[in-house]
Amino acid sequence: MPLPSTGPTQPPPGVTTRPGVVVPSPSEATGTRFIRVLLPGERPGVVLEGETIRAWGVDGRLAAEAAGRVTLSAVGERIRWNGSRLLGESLDVAGSPNLRVGNRKVAGRVRLLARRGELLAVAVEPFESYVAAVVSREAPPRFHPEALAALAVAARTYAVGAAAKPRDPAYDVVAGVEDQVFDGMDAVAAVFREAADRTRGLVVRYRGELARTVYHSTCGGRTEDAGSAWGKDVPYLRAQFCDDCADSPVYRWEYRMSEAEGRRVAGAFGVPPGKDLRITVAGRSPTGRASRVRISSGGVSRELQAAEFRKVAGYAKVRSLKMEIVPIAGEWRFTGEGWGHGVGLCQFGANGMARRGAGFREILARYYPGTEIGGEAP
Ligand SMILES: [Zn+2]
Repeated sequence: MPLPSTGPTQPPPGVTTRPGVVVPSPSEATGTRFIRVLLPGERPGVVLEGETIRAWGVDGRLAAEAAGRVTLSAVGERIRWNGSRLLGESLDVAGSPNLRVGNRKVAGRVRLLARRGELLAVAVEPFESYVAAVVSREAPPRFHPEALAALAVAARTYAVGAAAKPRDPAYDVVAGVEDQVFDGMDAVAAVFREAADRTRGLVVRYRGELARTVYHSTCGGRTEDAGSAWGKDVPYLRAQFCDDCADSPVYRWEYRMSEAEGRRVAGAFGVPPGKDLRITVAGRSPTGRASRVRISSGGVSRELQAAEFRKVAGYAKVRSLKMEIVPIAGEWRFTGEGWGHGVGLCQFGANGMARRGAGFREILARYYPGTEIGGEAP
C-alpha cells in the first residue's frame, strides 16, 4: 500500500531561511556537500546563541524562534525549548548572522535530536568549512600554504571516507580525536580556508580506493611503516627518509621520568614497583622505533607494546617511540626524535618541503607513495 501523503513539506511562503532550502553562502558553490559532526555533549542542555535563532521541525515548518540565546534539553524523545515548550524529537536550527553552539561557532546549521533523554547536537557543516577547521587545529597558520594544502587534502580524504561510512545514522563523525578535532569556525584563519578552497574536492586514492591519509607532527628523520606501528601493512604507508622536519621544535626531545611517575606506569601494567624497577626498550622496528618495552621489578617482568607504554606514560611526555631510555639515579631519561606515531605525512616535513619549493601534490606523493590525487568521484 502506498504511503499516504504527509502533506505539504514546503515551508510556508516567506520562510525562505530554512536551512537546506536557503541559497548557500556566496563562498559555497551550488551542490554544496555537508558533513554531520557530533558536537561534544553538554549538561544540562545545549545553549544556542545568535542574533536570530530559528528552528524547524522535520515537517519543514518553523517550530520556534528566539533572539540572543536559548537553552535546549531533552525530555525523553522530545526537545524542551528554553525550559518551557516541548517540541518534537528533531529540530534543525539556523542562526543569523551565525550560530554558536556551546562555545563553538558553526558555519552551517545544527540538528538537535532527543534520544532517550539525551540531546545530541550535530553540526551540519559545509564540507570545505569542516576541512579548513580541522587543518586549523592541526597546523599553525605560519605553515607554508602548500603544506596547508597537502594537509587539507589529507583531512578531506579522511572526511570523505568517514561520511561514506557514518558512525551513526544521525552523524558521520564526532568532533574529537576519535575522528578529526573540530572546534568550530572561530579560530579558522584565512590561510586555512584558502588551503581548503584551493584543493576543493581533491582526495588521495590508491588503486581507486580512498587512501588512509594519516599524518603526524614530526617524524624525526624517517617515517614509520604502518605494519610496524599498527601490525597491518598498507602499501602506501611505508617508511620514508625525511630530512625536511629538522627545524621542528620536537625534532629532538627529552623527558625526565620521575621515580614516582615510573612507579605509577609500572603499576598500571601490573608490575609492583620496588627499588629495583627497570624500564627498558625490548625490541625495535626496522626504522629504530621502540616496538616493545620491558618493565621489571622484584622478579616480575612484563613486556608490552611500546605504543601501549607511550599511551600510559603520556603522548605529550614520551612524544615518539624513536627513543632511548637511560636510568639515572632512580629516574629515567628519555631522549627521542619526532612527535607522533610517525606513519604517513610528516607535517613539519611537509612544511620543510614546501619551503624548498614543493607543491602539495609533490608533498602528498612523497608521504603516500604510489597514490593519486583526484576528485571525489572515482
Ligand atoms: Zn619528517
